Amino acid sequence: MERIKEGLSNEEVMRYKQKYGLNELFKKENTTILKKILDVFKEPMLLLLLCTTIIYFMLGEFQEGIVMLIFVLFVCSITFFQQWKADRTMNALKNLVSPEIHVLRDAKKIKIKSSELVPNDIIYISQGERIPADCEVVEASNFYVDEAILTGESEPAYKQCKKKCDGIDDYWKEYMLYAGTLAISGTCTAIVKKIGASTEYGKIGKSIYEAREEDTPLQKKVGGLVKILAAIGAVLCIAVIFISYMSTQNFINSILSGITLAMAIIPEEFPVVLAVFLSMGAFRLAKKNVIMRKISAVETLGSTTVLCVDKTGTITENKMKVSKVFYDKKSHNDTNSLSKEFSMVSLLACQKDSTDPLEKAIIEVAKKNMSVYELENLEICKKFDFNSNTKIMANVYIMDDRYYISAKGSPESIIKLCKCNKETLEEIKLKVDFFATKGLRVIALADGTSEKLFGKLDEYSLSFKGIYGLQDSPREGVQEAIKSCNTAGIRVVMITGDYYKTAVAIGENIGLKFSNISVTGEEIDRMTDVELMRVVKECNIFSRVIPEHKMRIVNALRYNGEIVAMTGDGVNDAPALKKADIGIAMGGRGTEVAKEAADMILLDDNFTTIVDSVRDGRRIFDNIRKAMIYIFIIHIPIITLALFSPIFELPQILLPMHIMLLELIIDPTCSIIFEIEPAESYIMNQPPRSTKEPLLTQEMVKKVLMQGTTMFLAAFLPFHYLVDNGVTVEFARSFSLTTLIVGNIILVLVNSSNTKSIIEVLMDNRNKSRILINIMTVLVLISIIYMPVLQSLFKTSSLGLKTFTEALGLGVISTGWWEIVKLFNRIRKL
Ligand code: ADP
Ligand code: MG
Repeated sequence: MERIKEGLSNEEVMRYKQKYGLNELFKKENTTILKKILDVFKEPMLLLLLCTTIIYFMLGEFQEGIVMLIFVLFVCSITFFQQWKADRTMNALKNLVSPEIHVLRDAKKIKIKSSELVPNDIIYISQGERIPADCEVVEASNFYVDEAILTGESEPAYKQCKKKCDGIDDYWKEYMLYAGTLAISGTCTAIVKKIGASTEYGKIGKSIYEAREEDTPLQKKVGGLVKILAAIGAVLCIAVIFISYMSTQNFINSILSGITLAMAIIPEEFPVVLAVFLSMGAFRLAKKNVIMRKISAVETLGSTTVLCVDKTGTITENKMKVSKVFYDKKSHNDTNSLSKEFSMVSLLACQKDSTDPLEKAIIEVAKKNMSVYELENLEICKKFDFNSNTKIMANVYIMDDRYYISAKGSPESIIKLCKCNKETLEEIKLKVDFFATKGLRVIALADGTSEKLFGKLDEYSLSFKGIYGLQDSPREGVQEAIKSCNTAGIRVVMITGDYYKTAVAIGENIGLKFSNISVTGEEIDRMTDVELMRVVKECNIFSRVIPEHKMRIVNALRYNGEIVAMTGDGVNDAPALKKADIGIAMGGRGTEVAKEAADMILLDDNFTTIVDSVRDGRRIFDNIRKAMIYIFIIHIPIITLALFSPIFELPQILLPMHIMLLELIIDPTCSIIFEIEPAESYIMNQPPRSTKEPLLTQEMVKKVLMQGTTMFLAAFLPFHYLVDNGVTVEFARSFSLTTLIVGNIILVLVNSSNTKSIIEVLMDNRNKSRILINIMTVLVLISIIYMPVLQSLFKTSSLGLKTFTEALGLGVISTGWWEIVKLFNRIRKL
């Protein structure tokens, strides 16, 4: 069949695509824009605003009514825009990790997005991938598929081409692969038959990839808080209406006062801040090669206490180089002059066209010492694939009418297959340890002949050939990253399939903190869960571990109360990735399954990137906190003013109009300015935040109360004083508004950093939006006080230069005094 050699041509692809559309298993449920707009209208804030508007219209104050309406639209569009942007960011991120597949087109093997597949495409699938469409097997080698998702059958299904099947006619066919199922071992070439909704999976029509995005713990906490505040607001609102009505007997005005207070209390900024900060955080991380699959992971990242990482490829570069060779009882340091025989065994023990860095390194060396032509005609008649359990791979060839087997793997497992005398064993062990203590990865080689073709490796008798010591250097920056983990109170645990001496040597090299314990997979097998829980407290290097052990390690750590981040790439890593608080899949060498199970995907497979993202996670959480603190503080004067005026029988300082105006300043301030604040210098010098820690610590609550109170006093006392001294309400209001708005600007500056002084914050003009928002705020303030049109609307009047300066000064002091507290804190820490 031509097609199997060439694949589809470009024109054919175009034609099929037009006919069959995209290969999408399920239609993404697009929430319509209308629904989103309606969602915005469910916000209590908007309902209150609408109420106020109606009251104004009823009172015949059409100007106010119209302005309120404009505010309504404004707030709506801001909320809508922010939510839309957060959604869009998340969708863009999801697209980045959409599955890909190898396909043959125009006689070239290329990688495309699975959604681009069309019927009749020839595709290549290997273990760890999801089957992207319903296909028929063309060629399969040892290919097993987990079809539980469709058939409920937990045993893996063996797959082979139609010719080889025995003709039993089941609904689920042995020669068919079904979209959504999972390749768990072997490789397969197949031809696409059905795509998208017409696949068996499409018929069921549910999604595998899209886990329902749940609210993060923080979002839940804040959600609870919002409800409580709303309830308090409702109670106070009724109280104010009542008090106000008792003293003024003016019902409409009392309701207006009540609504003003309710508007002030509703904390509608909180959810917006969370959505924006988390999604923007994820967006920024994506630029640094980290894709968050679950938004909640952004938040968990910062509280990670243990990082469990693979050695090969994550801590090291996974670029292998043969550095030492041992065979014929001699070490050979010059890899250019190895014996022809040893080189041949090495070549035969590798896969053809291997992409495995380890094999590539061995092949490179072997090729230098013999010509490959001599091996061209050898035919492989059986392959034993490498797997992390056996830690061995072997090929069986037909050679001179006999079977010839060449195997390589970890020294322990190879020796088990060889008959060696005690002396040789001792010698091998010595050499292996010698290589390993130099941090080299050790691979042993063996071969043998046999009259029969056996199905199991241990049925062959092999003779030991020699060992390779391969250098795999740590990645750049790993040492610094480990150091910064140490100061940040994060434990780094190295998990590897390698020999423990190799692991320990590398651990020492990169400055991993570890006591002399290194636990091997076999030892884990012998431990009970309770023993393991004790061991994981101390042990930072786990060697000769298979993926199944990772699950137990994660469990033990989590039982100990740790927040665990765990890396993984293989099919068998998926359960551990799911179990970990943060499962990290490798983008480069990770399988589709690992990526699906993970919370986070590391595009560059690099350990230092993980540490960077932890730092970012901490920064994001820190900034969320700062924004929350700010929101709390600024609401204190607003609420207390609304509450105290009727109590002291004063006219309302802030009318609904002013509250709206303040909200318009507060919204962008908290969601934009604090989002881009750079990390505090101490962010990686403190232990991880406990997940049990409340959103606001006692310290923070104190700060909120103190700063809020001074802001209230600075706005309320002068108003009281001025009104008592016979000044017009408009004048006094202008004064209070000025103190409040100026106080707000300073408040943001003061609380931007807990360590840097306000001067340093001001000098740092990286935060352009802060400067812009502050300028806008000042302009707005001046306009509402001095522009006659706005004066009549906002019920204000012009202040003289002297009074304005006084108000300004008072505003600066009302929040700026916190700088002194910061100064004292700094001195105390010196
Ligand atoms: P890790 O990735 O954690 O370093 P692996 O499971 O990949 O561990 O490898 C474990 C051991 O298996 C290695 O130390 C080596 O001895 C052996 N090994 C790895 N790759 C191969 C291979 N391609 N062929 C034979 N043996 C291998
Ligand atoms: Mg490996």
